[in-house]
Amino acid sequence: MRYSSTFLPILGFCALLSSCGQQVTPQVANESGASGVIHQLDTWCGGKEGNGISATYYDSSVSSSQWGFNYVTTFDQARAQWGGISSRVALNKTSSTANNPDKYYVGNTAVADRLGITTPYIYKNGVLVDGSQNLDDVWAKANVSIYDNTFKQNSFTTTERLGTVTHELGHSLKLAHPGQGSCRVAPISAGATAVMVQGRKAYGVQQYDKQEIKAFWGL
Ligand SMILES: [Zn+2]
Repeated sequence: MRYSSTFLPILGFCALLSSCGQQVTPQVANESGASGVIHQLDTWCGGKEGNGISATYYDSSVSSSQWGFNYVTTFDQARAQWGGISSRVALNKTSSTANNPDKYYVGNTAVADRLGITTPYIYKNGVLVDGSQNLDDVWAKANVSIYDNTFKQNSFTTTERLGTVTHELGHSLKLAHPGQGSCRVAPISAGATAVMVQGRKAYGVQQYDKQEIKAFWGL
């Protein structure tokens, strides 16, 4: 799966978004569904080591009492939503940091309206490095951070927080914002909601997201 050079500007845009951290306000053009637009670039190429079967480790910040909110349950529920779609995709919780699991964090951010961010890592000369510059590399792992202060400032409900976490975990599976990826996976028409659309949302994985997972990773 290679991208045409025609799409390089889109790829660059995505990389400049620093792994497409989710913002409160949708900033994605061309995502409204009613027009029948076909999203052709919904994932990043290159796959991930272990395919979509990832061990995931919860940093201690996830269970910190300082938030006054149970983010462990939120991450558990978000992981579960990405399971059962494809036999090649699962986000399995581990208590070990061995073998570079994906890592989840909760924190505060000084960046206005930033809800969360996903940072991929790749192996370069045997060393694990930030892979944000080329999202089409084969990722060794991904780190996901979400930001409690932004949720609080915007009075996010429990369901909306879950929507954000589920969105970020979708990025960890190489799903881009619809229309902002670099691989053409499947001609899936818009018109449906998708958890991978950027912005505030009170829902989780949709049929559209499931189709993308199956098209990219296989059944
Ligand atoms: Zn995003």
